[in-house]
Amino acid sequence: MRYTEPKERSAELLRVALVHMGRHDAALNPVTFTVWYEHAAGINAKLSQAIDQALGLGKRFDDAIIALLYKAHIAHVDESTMQRLSGRFDKVMDEVAECATLTGTQAGVFGVQLDGLSQALQAHDVPELSPQVNEALAGTAEMKLSAEALQLQVTASRAEIDRLRSDLNTARDEAVLDPLAGVLNRKGFDQKLRALLAEAHEPRSPHCLIMFDIDHFKKVNDTHGHVMGDRVIRALGDILRSCVADHANDHAKPLAGTPSNAASHAVARYGGEEFAILLPRTSVEHGTRLAEAVRTKTKAIKIRNRTTQEVILTITISGGVAAMEDGDDAPSFIARADRALYHAKQAGRDRVSCA
Ligand code: GH3
Ligand code: MG
Ligand code: MG
Repeated sequence: MRYTEPKERSAELLRVALVHMGRHDAALNPVTFTVWYEHAAGINAKLSQAIDQALGLGKRFDDAIIALLYKAHIAHVDESTMQRLSGRFDKVMDEVAECATLTGTQAGVFGVQLDGLSQALQAHDVPELSPQVNEALAGTAEMKLSAEALQLQVTASRAEIDRLRSDLNTARDEAVLDPLAGVLNRKGFDQKLRALLAEAHEPRSPHCLIMFDIDHFKKVNDTHGHVMGDRVIRALGDILRSCVADHANDHAKPLAGTPSNAASHAVARYGGEEFAILLPRTSVEHGTRLAEAVRTKTKAIKIRNRTTQEVILTITISGGVAAMEDGDDAPSFIARADRALYHAKQAGRDRVSCA
């Protein structure tokens, strides 16, 4: 693990990193934060060397310098680390915001106290003390102003962090989506399956996997061209999504004891013309019913000539359904569903088989 500092130490490092960030010009974002955090933690010798060198030259770090440092010395930080850092960073910003509010309030209270003191002193006519009191009053006003400025700065940084977080989420979503079929891609499927395998599963409510493969799809491409083939894949993506949504509605009530953060169902394009549906806590009977619904709707797809509306193409698919078994890992679970799919193909296609 890259960051192993105990909580107290990491809190201290966060503050040190934040001070560095405040002194330089780069945007307050997770990348800038990571650079300063690693420097403060002393866990990245080459990065610290480069930073010390630049600081020795009296440089202020702007976005370009931070980006260079990040690319040269940290770029291999993985996505989950970035996510964790951005979470921690948000927390620190919350603390800073609170702190700034508190500073502002304290400055206000202090100002009122000094006002009172000033009046009391003037009432007792101690002229030699007046200059110091006035100085203190001016200092307090300044302090209030800088606290207000700090609050504004924190608000702006928060907005920037929110924007960054939303960009990061969009990028993360896009990275696991298949743009043609509008379902998860293989990477997204693997993530979902891994999450499901990591959950303790109840023997009474096993997980279910369906693998689909379009029948004789090569012929579709050969006869009608790739563009038409792509239309078929898009249409099948629509059917899979709507059938799984219907299934999810029918099973809206979570099973007793299901944790609220339990993995949810997933629809994915597993490969070229192969699709997969992952159904947590679903029996093979329910899975088969869903697979049959997909098969029937797919058979009813009518790809038409866009000008003449003439039906030029219909297709069928085959499906294999499997239940997760004790001791399964991802390859063994997938292989079982694949075997069922193979049987469906062998038995004549346009059908669903169970493992
Ligand atoms: P089977 O019924 O045994 O599955 O026969 P098949 O022709 O479907 O199987 P095969 O594996 O021989 O051919 C799969 C074809 O799917 C070949 C490939 O060109 C096509 N394909 C894969 N991905 C895409 C895609 O994104 N778009 C299009 N148009 N075709 C694709
Ligand atoms: Mg295939
Ligand atoms: Mg095929």
